[in-house]
Amino acid sequence: MAKAPVLTRRADDFPRWYQDLITKAELADNGPVRGTMVIRPYGYGLWERMQQDLDARIKETGAQNAYFPLLIPQSYLAKEADHVEGFAPELAVVTHGGGKELEEPAVVRPTSEMIINDYFAKWVQSYRDLPLLINQWANVVRWELRPRLFLRTTEFLWQEGHTAHATYEEARDFAAHIHRHVYADFMRDVLAMDVVLGRKTPAERFAGAINTLTLEGMMGDGKALQMGTSHELGQNFAEAFQTRYLSKDGTQELVWQTSWGSTTRMIGALVMMHGDDDGLRVPPRLAPVQVVVLAVKADDQVLTKVREIGAALKAAGIRVHVDDRADVPFGRRAVDWELKGVPVRVEVGPRDLESGTAVLARRIPGGKEPVSADPAALAGLLPGVLEDDQALLLRQSRERRRSRTSDVTTVDGAVEAVLAGGWARIPWAALGEAGEERLAGHGISVRCLIAQDGAVPDADDAPGNVAVVARAY
Ligand code: AMP
Repeated sequence: MAKAPVLTRRADDFPRWYQDLITKAELADNGPVRGTMVIRPYGYGLWERMQQDLDARIKETGAQNAYFPLLIPQSYLAKEADHVEGFAPELAVVTHGGGKELEEPAVVRPTSEMIINDYFAKWVQSYRDLPLLINQWANVVRWELRPRLFLRTTEFLWQEGHTAHATYEEARDFAAHIHRHVYADFMRDVLAMDVVLGRKTPAERFAGAINTLTLEGMMGDGKALQMGTSHELGQNFAEAFQTRYLSKDGTQELVWQTSWGSTTRMIGALVMMHGDDDGLRVPPRLAPVQVVVLAVKADDQVLTKVREIGAALKAAGIRVHVDDRADVPFGRRAVDWELKGVPVRVEVGPRDLESGTAVLARRIPGGKEPVSADPAALAGLLPGVLEDDQALLLRQSRERRRSRTSDVTTVDGAVEAVLAGGWARIPWAALGEAGEERLAGHGISVRCLIAQDGAVPDADDAPGNVAVVARAY
């Protein structure tokens, strides 16, 4: 008998499958205020693992963590014209405090360029204070009109980096370094995600930036998701806050700045990039639990064995969980771990023990096979299995993007390719801003510009620029 599906099938209704998976894998719930989200322990565990790894990579660049206030005087926002125009529709504003109307309303930060620049202007005096490299882990609020759990919530968690440099070149190179060697490396090597690195068109640029670098991933339904951004801010904010330094030549100069962010949206990407009809598939390098050792039955010999295996795997540096619950049937527990996407299950039952074996269930390629139940043998075997499955996920992600991306030369061709469920690449010269507007009429956007060899272009209109177009989340 075929087993009854636990989730809505992806092919039947992708958005419902996504929602279903998030609920059943216990990642998150909707919060009471529309657009807000409760991140449950399993979902938060994924976020903590992302944070740990990214934090180390950010610190490698020389950046240090700091914390700035949640509330920003409303007048600060008005200091940079593009920034205020871009963010005004999304702001939450505090007008009352302690039972009284405030003299000046305070904005709940949608991002922290404004408040951080106020302090940068005080901290930066001379060239010796540069570069100034700050990162903050925080929550931000953007009043989203079409919220979706993880992908677009009204309040989300992120890291936001803010830096000030003496020269344009240094700031440009730093933004590019974060893009390629912090974000892209992390997404490829830890999240097992194939991402396209490119440059946003002027229409899609961050409010107040002179250049926005982006990472775009293809989800299981062929749509695109912006996974992170790194901005060159030029001197726009330095001008607004008069952030100046005394140069070696004794002149007063404005600093050059960057900002960059990645958010809890990456958890939504994980679901939509790697999930299948049975649930999530978590890349082993990210997984809070890499291996779960399951007692099929709670008899003494089995319990002793699963605990021995658990101890040996832990000693081998594997993140392991022993599931020896007697009060939940084995079948339900197995389905639950499958939903949560734990990469490997080692299942031990009384009959297996007689033959000295256990069942190895691999979530990523799927399938089950008998293996030795000897704890030392398992501790020797599993690190290689986890690495193989990590590599397989990345290959599948890359293969999907390659097989579902078409090269086209006309706007009509691009629309056709995207509506068939994929991405299209079209020369920017054949598209242009007029073509970009035509695509918008079909719900399609330019995700980014890339150079012909796939590199990140250094100008919007560099000859040979290619637009990557898709429907996006
Ligand atoms: P930005 O500061 O607008 O460049 O955004 C930084 C990153 O945050 C982007 O790369 C998006 O992927 C992500 N992001 C933007 N809005 C939201 C949201 N409402 N919820 C979750 N992530 C978001």
